[in-house]
Amino acid sequence: MSRKKTNFLVKTKNVLAGRAGYQCSHPNCNVITIGPGESADTVSSIGEAAHIFSASLNGPRGQGGLSDDELRDIENGFWACKIHARLIDTNSGNGFTAEQLKAWRALQETKIKLHQGRIQRQLFWLNSLKIKECSVFSDEQEIYFGKVTFICGSKNASGKSTILDFINSISSYEYLESRVSSGQSFRYELELFNPDSNELQIRYDNGAVLSKLNKEDVPFNPIPVEIFRYDLSCPLPH
Ligand SMILES: [Zn+2]
Repeated sequence: MSRKKTNFLVKTKNVLAGRAGYQCSHPNCNVITIGPGESADTVSSIGEAAHIFSASLNGPRGQGGLSDDELRDIENGFWACKIHARLIDTNSGNGFTAEQLKAWRALQETKIKLHQGRIQRQLFWLNSLKIKECSVFSDEQEIYFGKVTFICGSKNASGKSTILDFINSISSYEYLESRVSSGQSFRYELELFNPDSNELQIRYDNGAVLSKLNKEDVPFNPIPVEIFRYDLSCPLPH
């Protein structure tokens, strides 16, 4: 079989792997993809250069209107372990958008720069909200966020404000106060990348808001993030 024109060059793969620190770029994985081989003079790799837009015509995520040269360009690469390289291409790439993969690649490269001491922490990504217990919802809720996430509900009391209040609690517990004063119980977890993964757990217990960051008790979230909320349902001041 002839070599496909959209395949990455070896040099491109090496640069892509190096920029990811030879780690899987999936934010929940980050496994090291290179290590010692079986003999003293070899290395063993479990990394793969995955295409963000597909190398083949009907592949995952389509080809995004890119030319053959653009498809094999490093800009279209995503370094991952074998498991995640396969996962992002399963079911025609459903569940993994091109924008998400690009954001994850940028996150991974920033993390590596941070570990090298080349930058200060500036990056922040809200990955998920998991509502374990809340009187507004009848069962547990898990929301994973993209670069832009629309939260829609057809009627009042569908839970939109609750979700926004929980997101706001990343920077302030102010929006939880009315729930606390009305005795509404809640327990939820937020997954925050800055760019390392952090788990913020917040719950209502006996008249107070209690929180833990990475299993340690904290009076508020110490990660310096500010959440801006523009509530269009409130009339703007004249
Ligand atoms: Zn992985």
